[in-house]
Amino acid sequence: MEEITVSLVSLGCAKNLVDSEVMLGLLKQEGFSLTTDPKQADVVVVNTCGFIDVAREESINTILELAELKKKKCRLLLAAGCLSQRYGDELLFLMPELDGLVGTGDTGAIAAAIKRSLQGERPVYIRRENPAPEDAPRLLSTPGHTAYLKVAEGCDNNCSYCAIPSIRGPYRSRPLPAVLAEAEKLAAQGVRELNLVAQDITLYGTDLTGKRELAPLLKELAKLQGITWIRLLYAYPERVDKNLAAVIAAEPKVCNYLDLPLQHADNRILARMGRRLTMEDMLAMLSGLRREIPGIVLRSSFIIGFPGEGEEAFGNLLSFLAEARLERVGFFTYSREEGTRAATFRRQVPESIKQRRLEQALSVQSRVMEEHNRSLLGKIMTVLIDGPSAQDPGVTLARSEGHAPEVDGYVRISGRHQPPGRLVEVRITGSCGQDLLAEIL
Ligand code: SF4
Repeated sequence: MEEITVSLVSLGCAKNLVDSEVMLGLLKQEGFSLTTDPKQADVVVVNTCGFIDVAREESINTILELAELKKKKCRLLLAAGCLSQRYGDELLFLMPELDGLVGTGDTGAIAAAIKRSLQGERPVYIRRENPAPEDAPRLLSTPGHTAYLKVAEGCDNNCSYCAIPSIRGPYRSRPLPAVLAEAEKLAAQGVRELNLVAQDITLYGTDLTGKRELAPLLKELAKLQGITWIRLLYAYPERVDKNLAAVIAAEPKVCNYLDLPLQHADNRILARMGRRLTMEDMLAMLSGLRREIPGIVLRSSFIIGFPGEGEEAFGNLLSFLAEARLERVGFFTYSREEGTRAATFRRQVPESIKQRRLEQALSVQSRVMEEHNRSLLGKIMTVLIDGPSAQDPGVTLARSEGHAPEVDGYVRISGRHQPPGRLVEVRITGSCGQDLLAEIL
């Protein structure tokens, strides 16, 4: 076969990144050469994101930018991921720059799509459930000591504002043996930190055995040689139960960290979102977690400007933030998504009000974060070395159990560099915005 070089640009969330890494593994297995530089590629694939407006914009701009390369070496431009799954034909019609599309359930067909396109089929359009085999090869794009482990696909929660169930389909857990086999392979190749991801990890196993299997999965993962940290991302708050809390508390390898998107805190808005906990339930759950797992770091995310969110409802969210004192928080402004129930709701909030409220929420949360960081001064903690700072050569970037990759900032260590993947003891000497400053003991 003629040597064909492929470059894959991955956008969106960690789940999409795992799909990208699997597609790269399959392309290599099929004999394609790979490059991280799209300018050097014969074929460029964009693994898109498309669940809210800003993500769609980024995906479309990226496709248009990369289409410029077709004036040079690039012969084919294909799109995969949520934007291609959600808009399919419409996307092909609106973007003649694209030579083909692969759906979110078709990562297994990426090589076939490129081959058919190279043979002249235009546009190639594959959206018929060709998932990658469970033991598909995967080329990590994260630093070698850390990786995401996707345990399931799709979602059944059907929050009123969310298009993901219509894009990614119903909840499908990966079989336990397949998840363990992949984790073992990752450990063997030097991964020390496993970040568990899905749309909702707490639903894991219910479609297979009718029972929640996340806690048993964690116990099995904790037995793996070489794995040092296991981190839980995207937990659905209603299913954070005593069983799960007990495993987090008992298993030293399971990080004292939990990411649980709460989305809002006003009871009327929570009900309109289709969320099943009230503010009181959430406060009780958070204090229960902190009682059972002292020192746990809690991350959450909230939507600002949901239809019907008046000043009082927004005020309730601000008071909740001040009371809940979550260590890590991300905010999104509401995006009116066609095909969702909330898109039909009256009392849509104007963009200017969303932006004003976003700034208010950010300032409340940054005070909470600063107080949290101040409370860590002088503390000794174990951190995982990520590597030298690109911006600041004298600084090594590391993360504690309380810092998820890419979203929670770093522990910045001055002085002699330490190899990535090593665990070291540090003393916290200060903070700078979201980051902590530390010295090695
Ligand atoms: S749990 Fe998350 S992915 Fe599922 S419907 Fe709700 S917001 Fe969407």
